[in-house]
Amino acid sequence: MSARCCQAEGCTEDLVALGKPYFLKKKICDQHMRAEEVHKAGCGDSLWRFCQQCGRLEPLSNFDGTKRNCPAALPAAAAAAAAVLPATVTYAMGQPRLTSNTPGCASACNPAAADRLQALTSQMAQMQAMLLQMQQSLEIARRL
Ligand SMILES: [Zn+2]
Ligand SMILES: [Zn+2]
Repeated sequence: MSARCCQAEGCTEDLVALGKPYFLKKKICDQHMRAEEVHKAGCGDSLWRFCQQCGRLEPLSNFDGTKRNCPAALPAAAAAAAAVLPATVTYAMGQPRLTSNTPGCASACNPAAADRLQALTSQMAQMQAMLLQMQQSLEIARRL
């Protein structure tokens, strides 16, 4: 297998010709990076999938359904999200109280800012839901 070849079995894609250093670095072509199942060269019948979190091919059994991040990558991602979330959410939740006639309050003087705050707050709720999902996946992974 040459250094410029995709590591998928039988793939003849020239990674240098694709002109994307990332593919060359990961030794995988665009098509196989996105494939749900990949036969890795030299690994027989075993099936692999490119993990976006780890940036490498991992056994299909590492993944949950059609996800492209293996559960092993979740603790780090969940921890990073958890580290960011509480402070941000507290900040967003605390904001509405400032609308009560506080002089110089951005929300009171600037309707656009209030809209932005609302958008931000719903974004935070979505992120919290995502975090919850990640934690649930993690629980499932732990039980396996
Ligand atoms: Zn390929
Ligand atoms: Zn992974």
